[in-house]
Amino acid sequence: MSDTILAAEPTIRLAIFLGVLAAMALWEVAAPRRRRDIPRVIRWTNNLGLVVLDTAILRLSFPILAVGLAVTAEERSWGLFNNIDVPVWAALVVSMLALDLAIYLQHVMFHAVPGLWRLHRMHHADLDFDATTGLRFHPVEILISMGIKLAVVTALGPPAVAVLLFEVILNATALFNHANIDLPRPLDRVLRLLVVTPDMHRVHHSVDPRETNSNYGFNLPWWDRLLGTYVPQPAKGHRGMEIGIEQFRTRRDLWLDRMLVQPLRGPASGGALDPRITTKEPSE
Ligand SMILES: [Zn+2]
Ligand SMILES: [Zn+2]
Repeated sequence: MSDTILAAEPTIRLAIFLGVLAAMALWEVAAPRRRRDIPRVIRWTNNLGLVVLDTAILRLSFPILAVGLAVTAEERSWGLFNNIDVPVWAALVVSMLALDLAIYLQHVMFHAVPGLWRLHRMHHADLDFDATTGLRFHPVEILISMGIKLAVVTALGPPAVAVLLFEVILNATALFNHANIDLPRPLDRVLRLLVVTPDMHRVHHSVDPRETNSNYGFNLPWWDRLLGTYVPQPAKGHRGMEIGIEQFRTRRDLWLDRMLVQPLRGPASGGALDPRITTKEPSE
């Protein structure tokens, strides 16, 4: 069973990734939510180039990734679920919830710690918001997140299939909730009770720092609601809001070489603990 999961993992992940990316690209053409400001060729070439680079760096840096570690943990009885007697379905559900909460908390931390915000703000510096924005993460952020995920897997001992499912679902929802698609409002209202929708996550890409520092969920919308970081809609509306952060606003900044050095450039302003944001009156 474990060997089958490990052998099939790359194929399953690549097939679902390409399928969902193609579906979102077509949907964006058929029913766009916002007008594009930047020609697609600049952003798509660089954002997709970054994914290839991230994947290569990740594979070369870690001898084992999350699903592989879950298999090893099962074999060697590491972690909570490999040491207690619970039904597999319960371990599966709790593991997926725990991984999602961990990703949420990690995202909050990347906004709150100035040094980590320098890495993560590259995700926010995209000047349009579409499915490829969901793939735009600095390689060092990718490495740190994998380290955190491996620590969670070691402590939790989740079924390997739960980790695989979680990663595949997270990949698909990241493409979906960054897509520039116009979901009917009643559908958005129902869907966002269960999953982070594009309208919910777009708020997180607003140039207004109070909106940037909200809606941290990638998969489940519940953590934001439970923990007080939920902002339902952008103040200026989805068509009127500006996408990005205050820094890095030229087209040249969207090129891969510039993205990679962004963490070293300029001040670490705009994160969740930036005093200019935390001291502002909410009614301003
Ligand atoms: Zn963020
Ligand atoms: Zn995002």
